[in-house]
Amino acid sequence: MSRLNSVIRRLQAQRDCLNAAAEMIKDHDGIVLEIGLGNGRTFDHLREIMPDREIFVFDRQIAAHPKCIPDDDHLFLGDIFETLPMAVERFAGKVALVHSDVGTGDEELNAKIASFIGKTLPPSLIKGAIVASDQKIDVPGTIAEPLPEGVPQDRYFFRRYQ
Ligand code: SAM
Repeated sequence: MSRLNSVIRRLQAQRDCLNAAAEMIKDHDGIVLEIGLGNGRTFDHLREIMPDREIFVFDRQIAAHPKCIPDDDHLFLGDIFETLPMAVERFAGKVALVHSDVGTGDEELNAKIASFIGKTLPPSLIKGAIVASDQKIDVPGTIAEPLPEGVPQDRYFFRRYQ
């Protein structure tokens, strides 16, 4: 497969997963955490498909398109090893959806971040909350949910908090 087709497939799968995750929480009140602003693509999509939800965004730096940067009140700027625990304490029992897209080329670091996110998140989650992620994250108290049709296994991961 050409690299162009590969990128298109990856982004289509990501969009399908975000759309599916939004649908899965439609009957649950709660806020959204977007971990990994990057260039703001997925943040922009989440706010488009969930205009009535409050979305809080995490990144260690701002490198997004100027139109895809949240206001200061919705931005946790810094290393998630510091900012995520603060957010979890502030939003205890209020989070309906977490989208984590912080994968790097470093598998060891990815595993460390995934482990940290998994063990940190639970107090923030409402019953029925979805954790959608680009890396496999074991979140205590959650079960795996199937991905949307056509998305290859291990391309994305869905967990639902019980
Ligand atoms: N979702 C974004 C988008 O669609 O544009 C892409 C996110 S990009 C793949 C991953 C982002 O995670 C980077 O912007 C990086 O700075 C951030 N990141 C990685 N490790 C982090 C950490 N420990 N703390 C805060 N941000 C981190």
